[in-house]
Amino acid sequence: MSDIKKYDVAVLGAGPGGYPAAIRAAQKGAKVALIETAEVGGTCLNRGCIPSKALIANGELYRQIQKSNEFGIFVEKVSFKYEAMAKRKDEIVSQMRKNVEGLVQSNKITLLSGYGRLISPQEIKIQGKDAQTIFAENIILATGSEPREIQAFPFDQKQILDSTSLLNRTELPKSIIIVGAGVIGCEFASLYNSLGVQVTLLELLPRILPMEAEEISLALTQSFTKRGIQIKTNVNVQSLQTSKNGVEANIGESVKAEIALVAVGRSLNTKDIGLEKAGIVPEKNGIIKVNERMETEVPGIFAVGDIASKWWLAHVATHQGIIAAENATGGNERMHYNAIPSVIFTDPEIGTVGMTLAQAKEMGYSPIVGSYPFQALGKAQASKHTEGFAQVIVDKPTGQILGAQIFGYEATTLIAEMAVAIANELTMESIAETIHAHPTYAELWMESAFVALGTPLHLPPRKRLG
Ligand code: NAD
Repeated sequence: MSDIKKYDVAVLGAGPGGYPAAIRAAQKGAKVALIETAEVGGTCLNRGCIPSKALIANGELYRQIQKSNEFGIFVEKVSFKYEAMAKRKDEIVSQMRKNVEGLVQSNKITLLSGYGRLISPQEIKIQGKDAQTIFAENIILATGSEPREIQAFPFDQKQILDSTSLLNRTELPKSIIIVGAGVIGCEFASLYNSLGVQVTLLELLPRILPMEAEEISLALTQSFTKRGIQIKTNVNVQSLQTSKNGVEANIGESVKAEIALVAVGRSLNTKDIGLEKAGIVPEKNGIIKVNERMETEVPGIFAVGDIASKWWLAHVATHQGIIAAENATGGNERMHYNAIPSVIFTDPEIGTVGMTLAQAKEMGYSPIVGSYPFQALGKAQASKHTEGFAQVIVDKPTGQILGAQIFGYEATTLIAEMAVAIANELTMESIAETIHAHPTYAELWMESAFVALGTPLHLPPRKRLG
């Protein structure tokens, strides 16, 4: 035991859940070890949010340039080199990773490189570069998830790829089959279509983005279809055949493409981290049960991120990480889930927070919807981003905002106002009475609130909703 280094807090996994937890624990004066088997920044920075958004920015710019003549700007010939786009993406990731490494170092956190497993409730054995066993008063587990394989057609990463290997490619295919029209499937469908790839999207359930509000799925379906993306729903892809000519999905009819992306969810990294040695039994789906303080059933062991809730979002992981770190260093903070924004970087973008109309009804509310189209907005007309709508879901008797959805330009940023509104239990009156600058996209919320109140300003009169 004397050789074993002792820490106040050890964090297993340096993704968007783990490294913020380590930073907050260090800020609270704790001696902190952060253990990572790959790169700091985790999936989000290295293989997810950031590289995909870098490529998506390329796709959007390319689409915008193609429409430049609508602005009176005539670009003679537009072309791109995907390899250069991929290089730009890699440079962004590499710079951001250095920034995180710098933060870890400047907060005097000990970064240990290797694969960590619990060997008791307070010990972690690390294999790899910094092989050793450490002792920690408190442990925060933040090991995340990885793309889920379908057994019948495992990834070969050449013709059947997961999102990680698709992001790593330096050339574009001519055509792609995307299995699964969830967040990853739809973001890649949008990106690849922007860059001229022929996309076929196959989804098991009756609509794409099945977890989102129906209005959002419908709007995206219409938009994708107009852009030439082939969508097939109610399709259970059970096999993919590969040959030197490409990939074929047999779904009653034959669908062929050069490669296939399988994006059917993620599996949790909880199987091989020694949970049993610490006395933690994950639920059947692999999720580790935690309380509002992010503490597991074993006192002193916390879990955050994908492994600790159904909210598989980087920003949720970060918030959970901060809560866990506060509690691991003597605090008493609690996690709340009523106002979690969810953002999807299709073109146009999607932002949602709180309840959908269907969920509000299921919960026994008497909801009304105030909806406003981008088209009716001066700023949207001026910049030609007229596709889409915003809507607020409001509890009629109290006026409280229960949820909001937005499909359109900058939706991922605009949803933040509704997250603040819901987190602070604001009413639609408070949004309607707040002066929103003109001409801006933010006016969508004020106008939606006016619609919900039955006093629309820039739409023809209609009777009060509900
Ligand atoms: P997902 O759960 O969002 O979607 C998977 C889809 O695949 C579902 O719609 C499902 O019905 C479908 N499916 C499953 N089996 C199928 C089959 N055999 N044939 C056809 N369709 C099938 O999962 P994902 O898109 O892989 O994303 C993984 C996670 O990463 C999600 O939890 C997501 O929240 C997160 N993520 C978030 C963002 C973001 O916030 N912008 C971006 C990327 C990923």
